[in-house]
Amino acid sequence: MTRVIDGKAIAAAMNDRTARSAAVLRERGVIPALAVLTPAGDESANWYVRSIERAAAGVGIDCRVHQLAPAADAALIRSKLGALSEDPAVHAVICQTPLPGGVAVAAVGSGIAAGKDVDGASPVSLGMLAAGLPGAFPPATAAAVMEILRHENVPLGGRRAVVIGRSTVVGKPAALLLLAQDATVTISHSRTRNLADVCREADVLVVAAGQPELVGAGHVAPGAVVIDVGINPASGGMVGDVSIKAVTGIASAITPVPGGVGPVTTAQLMSHTIRAALGIGLAR
Ligand code: NAD
Repeated sequence: MTRVIDGKAIAAAMNDRTARSAAVLRERGVIPALAVLTPAGDESANWYVRSIERAAAGVGIDCRVHQLAPAADAALIRSKLGALSEDPAVHAVICQTPLPGGVAVAAVGSGIAAGKDVDGASPVSLGMLAAGLPGAFPPATAAAVMEILRHENVPLGGRRAVVIGRSTVVGKPAALLLLAQDATVTISHSRTRNLADVCREADVLVVAAGQPELVGAGHVAPGAVVIDVGINPASGGMVGDVSIKAVTGIASAITPVPGGVGPVTTAQLMSHTIRAALGIGLAR
């Protein structure tokens, strides 16, 4: 029997808690504020930013969107992030991709102060995470993976975790967070040999490859928990990186796409924003 984890329900419970904290801040005269720097004219970025605006409005966070000119270069983007970050009325800053000219978030994220870097975009935040230092936020998606595992009471200490994907926004920080919970972690990627064999060693398999239905029955050990981070456009909707049909009956639990990691990621961003407004970066 494979349980389908309800990411929407987990997100709703998180958003309730966040809304209560936001209300307390507002009573104290603090308006929790999130600034979003986003490229102009990218439909998928616009769609995601609108979903962030809706989520923020739902929990009582003031969300301001700042559009980048198509000609913006890395220096300009970094300085805009810096200016937003220095504004005392702004508690949290995120930078939406794709950035103009293919600029990588890691190349400009250092403009955001660690205490306001609620999506872990700065190499400083990732470094603090790696060093086990308090005061930085991991990327919201990696934090969402951990929140789902926590919510589902999945034991991690001494367990084998395999992460597919080594990006700085998902794979690496998810691996670091799993390691911090005493899992024995393997990071696999596009050059990994015998991927299915590696994955079958996992008690917890986190998949963030961006490859539609990459993971099938041969990748999953009986009873493993599978967290599917992937979002891939498909006719009339989206599919994940895992074939839910193929692994049903093998995995003990799996997150669906849509309705799994996605809503929890947005809820995590909101929760991080409130923590930033309270001045408490996530301690590791
Ligand atoms: P990325 O392209 O930066 O990284 C993909 C990683 O997967 C790379 O490290 C690559 O080596 C690995 N990979 C690619 N093909 C592989 C293969 N065949 N076998 C093994 N490894 C392979 O992507 P990303 O930004 O880390 O995102 C990964 C996926 O997660 C995407 O589908 C993205 O849309 C999704 N995503 C979802 C959320 C969410 O909130 N649910 C947030 C961020 C990203």
